[in-house]
Amino acid sequence: MFIGTGQSGTCRYYRWRILDRQAIISGILSDDGGKMLRTIAGFDRIGEENAFAVLARAGVLASEGKSIINLGIGQPDFPTPPNIVEAAVKALHDGQHGYTPATGIPPLREAVAADLHRRFAVDVSPERVLIVPGGKVTMFVAILMFGEPGADILYPDPGFPIYRSMIEFTGARPIPVPIRENNGFAFSAEESLSLVTPDTRLIILNSPANPCGGVTPRAEIEKLVEGLADFPDIAILSDEIYDQMLYDGQEHVSLLTFPEIRDRLILLNGWSKTYAMTGWRLGYSIWPDGLFEKARKLAVNAWSCVNAPAQFAALEALTGPQDAVAAMMSEFDTRRKLVVDLLNDIPGVSCITPKGAFYAFPNVSATGHKAKALASELLEGKGVATIGGPDFGILGEGYIRLSYANSQDNICEALTRMRSFLAEKPDDDSLAG
Ligand code: PLP
Repeated sequence: MFIGTGQSGTCRYYRWRILDRQAIISGILSDDGGKMLRTIAGFDRIGEENAFAVLARAGVLASEGKSIINLGIGQPDFPTPPNIVEAAVKALHDGQHGYTPATGIPPLREAVAADLHRRFAVDVSPERVLIVPGGKVTMFVAILMFGEPGADILYPDPGFPIYRSMIEFTGARPIPVPIRENNGFAFSAEESLSLVTPDTRLIILNSPANPCGGVTPRAEIEKLVEGLADFPDIAILSDEIYDQMLYDGQEHVSLLTFPEIRDRLILLNGWSKTYAMTGWRLGYSIWPDGLFEKARKLAVNAWSCVNAPAQFAALEALTGPQDAVAAMMSEFDTRRKLVVDLLNDIPGVSCITPKGAFYAFPNVSATGHKAKALASELLEGKGVATIGGPDFGILGEGYIRLSYANSQDNICEALTRMRSFLAEKPDDDSLAG
């Protein structure tokens, strides 16, 4: 094994010396946080999604024989409908084993455009549809496009944690837009617009929303779009991944339906939630003219294309029968009511009824427990996995998120355990100190 040690004059050369092989190997394998290699500063700022850490911890506890009920991770507990699975199997048998176009297979891009037309009566060119490996990827690309030191990016707080993480990665300034319980966990157009500065480059919107289950009403969205007319240089990323997960006859107001912002709108959507396909890693985005090529080039650089059989599955999801979606939503609706009733029955806990997605975001501030400590103690002590509100932003303190993607029996058992935990331990030790 050799390493270079020097240079001389204009003619660079390396003098090599033999080093102890074992010393190098142990250096490479050292568990010292990578002291030897300096990465760009963004990696010191990047965050993550605590839901995955909770999922891992719940798995460890379960493997130790503890009874665990997971209300932590945000994924439907239903299998992908069989017709969709079969379409992927068929694609494999048919020899769909190679690269596809980086933008996605043409019939899938056409199906996305047709689906958006069917649901929102909007004309979207298939040429503007980019098939990506997961909903997250669109936010990754969009935030990379606009985030840099000196730029401001507005994002919802509490909100999906990757927005802030990626904004910080780029060096842009994250500007949280408060999502308030007393506003039904909808975003406020007025408050969003009041946070715009001359440095604002991107505004991120999410409705129906994670983690609060809020749905922003049409009037508020119209007000925001109207206000954004004064800021024509701000790009908009609308995360509509829960657009089919609505209750009580709520309508989804897609930002795509506002022609006045189409030239700066990036739409994020995908299959993960609606079709119970989180593990397939599939998503799509709609890009305005000026941005599509940039997104496509990044796709070529980063992932080449989405897994070919998964794209055929996605095609079947959009063009095949939709009854599995309706059945899943009907079950989520029943659980939603159950979870809200049971939560409101626990002393110190109050929960407004979520209008979308599959999350409840109860206010636990009157229990005297800090939200993250409560979530952690519920998991360690009672085997109930939830996520502390602060994992979704500064304004998440006082709340925990429960995903009701679990059976009614498990939801009842989880909330019985939560009730008994709070009865046994009414205060948080950390508050007393
Ligand atoms: N956007 C929101 C608001 C989400 O909650 C999630 C996943 O939880 C995503 C995007 C990412 O979805 P995917 O699993 O397709 O990457």
